[in-house]
Amino acid sequence: MRLVLLGPPGSGKGTQAKMVSEKMGIPQISTGDILREAVARGTELGRKARSYMDAGQLVPDDVMLGLMEKRIGEADCARGYILDGFPRTLAQALGLDEILSRRGEAIDLAILIEVGDDTVVKRLTRRRVCPACHALYNLDTDPPKDDNRCDRCGVELVLRSDDEETTVRTRLNVYR
Ligand code: AMP
Repeated sequence: MRLVLLGPPGSGKGTQAKMVSEKMGIPQISTGDILREAVARGTELGRKARSYMDAGQLVPDDVMLGLMEKRIGEADCARGYILDGFPRTLAQALGLDEILSRRGEAIDLAILIEVGDDTVVKRLTRRRVCPACHALYNLDTDPPKDDNRCDRCGVELVLRSDDEETTVRTRLNVYR
């Protein structure tokens, strides 16, 4: 099963992808997670991506397509995968078609999750993430047990830098 999840930031793509991934035993490929990890590790990809991400802008298509071609070719993708956050532009969608046709593969299903802007802003500005294990919380709907600390690691939760309200609004405009 090769799935694409589409929808604005904060629509729940990552949450849904994680559940489908566990149920079907296929990997969730989150381009946002891959890029954040690269930024944290200071790799060449991270250096290229950082300024775009901090500004809420999209990382250039050629960078994303190179990254995805490599990732889809890895062994754990043989039985399928869930794309979460990719493709995000027409050029990426067309590039994905090319990569897949070279591999003799095709996407089985694309699911669009629709959520209004005000809901997204509320969800993301109240979202907190554990910098150690990347677990997600929401201060209103899914708060940590202990005040602002990860239930699993005990580490202090943070607001993702691109979840600040002004950056969220930019990300939404970029998405629309
Ligand atoms: P996300 O976690 O999916 O909201 O992604 C966080 C940030 O990573 C985005 O605001 C972009 O800067 C970058 N990013 C993630 N996926 C893509 C993509 N497919 N194309 C370009 N930039 C992306």
